[in-house]
Amino acid sequence: MRQVKKPKPAGACTVCRTPTELHESLNNRCRSTLNGRRCYGVYKSDLSYIWDECESCGGTGVVGTQVCAECAGFGWKLFG
Ligand SMILES: [Zn+2]
Ligand SMILES: [Zn+2]
Repeated sequence: MRQVKKPKPAGACTVCRTPTELHESLNNRCRSTLNGRRCYGVYKSDLSYIWDECESCGGTGVVGTQVCAECAGFGWKLFG
């Protein structure tokens, strides 16, 4: 069975660059944890973000039955 490609994330954290799929998350505090502390970044939708389809999972976010480790299941990675 072929996996469906994920839509591009809605935005990404300004600090750790973790993507978010939820438009509701934009302008809210990042939920990631960096070195045991909550990331102080904010999710932003920025037109300068260039999304690259994850090569490991082909944009599906999964490899076999596992969540893709390369993109954390988003299917996309921030370029650069
Ligand atoms: Zn963050
Ligand atoms: Zn991936």
